[in-house]
Amino acid sequence: MSIARLSDLADPALAPRLVIKVGSALLVGPDGVRRAWITQLVAEIAQARSRGQDVIVVSSGAIALGAATLGLEKGGRGSLADAQASAAVGQIALSGLWAELLGTHGITAAQMLLTLEDLEDRRRYLNVTATLTRLLDAGAVPVINENDSVATQEIRFGDNDRLAARVAQAAQASAVVLLSDIDGLYDRHPRLPGAKMIPVVEGVTAEVRAMASTDSNSGMGSGGMVSKLQAAEIAELAGICLVIGNGQHERPVARIVNDGIGTLFVPRRKAAARKAWLGGRLRLKGEIVVDDGAAAALGRGSSLLAKGITAVEGVFSRGDPVAIVDGEGKVLAHGLSEYDAAECAAIVGLHSSEQERVLGYSPRSSVIHRDQMVLK
Ligand code: GLU
Repeated sequence: MSIARLSDLADPALAPRLVIKVGSALLVGPDGVRRAWITQLVAEIAQARSRGQDVIVVSSGAIALGAATLGLEKGGRGSLADAQASAAVGQIALSGLWAELLGTHGITAAQMLLTLEDLEDRRRYLNVTATLTRLLDAGAVPVINENDSVATQEIRFGDNDRLAARVAQAAQASAVVLLSDIDGLYDRHPRLPGAKMIPVVEGVTAEVRAMASTDSNSGMGSGGMVSKLQAAEIAELAGICLVIGNGQHERPVARIVNDGIGTLFVPRRKAAARKAWLGGRLRLKGEIVVDDGAAAALGRGSSLLAKGITAVEGVFSRGDPVAIVDGEGKVLAHGLSEYDAAECAAIVGLHSSEQERVLGYSPRSSVIHRDQMVLK
């Protein structure tokens, strides 16, 4: 069973973990922060949490808000230095607001500022995944933005659409909801006569890409449909659904989920997609040999623990792809190692309680986490 229609987004069994990305124009208006609207969205987030769903927020708006505070023109987008300075000012207020409003529902907010590279480099990716998982397990709502003040690349329009899709991938989310200023994807420019919204898209094909028009409606947000489709493609490759919906309404999530207004992108081959994504990273750097007990546990969907390892071969770093093989050399799985080869070798056969003494730091939950593993 997987998500097939917008109403499925409210079903914790089909959508246990949601990423909700909020565009700048929804968070910041001409008079500053749009507190009343955010309050409503936060109530919807609290509702999702009480249904048993995890929620991660990707919040834009730092540049727009900071620019208003500093009195910089062009919404802080006049130069890279303007944008970075604006983000530094806006981010504090924005995080404070999310923390305050989530707090009124007894929910702890957790700020994470990421760059796209954090999610592309395997080592950093593993840490982001571990932190997100820990936060969600502890009941917090991560509130994420790009770390604009230190980004070394040009801050590009629509960055947060892509960031939201990458975060969803790192967090193994079920779906990403992009809240913006348009109801969904139209078959042509929405202002052209006869334009029709498309309720469900199966796979971002060339035909679908041709429907995207390049200008955002509001001029304040920076997304536009092109970056949303790029985000849909990233999500699709990770086997994750993505929704484009209009946030310019009270209770925007209910409008999408209950009223069914929005475009749902479903990945073409869900199970295979995740495998392909991991597979795309797999130039194997080494081998980890496991005993029969560990081999059987992997088959049942467990993570690989040091206890079940008998030997380590090759030179690899944390985050590198390795093969897991049995005593006869048969490949059981491929996955991303949480340790480098020397650390792995040092903890071979050890219980987690014995690993800290050897490593000099508290061990990770596993040597290869099952989420970062593909069985052969
Ligand atoms: N990170 C930017 C901000 O906080 C928004 C990026 C985007 O518009 O996608 O203002």
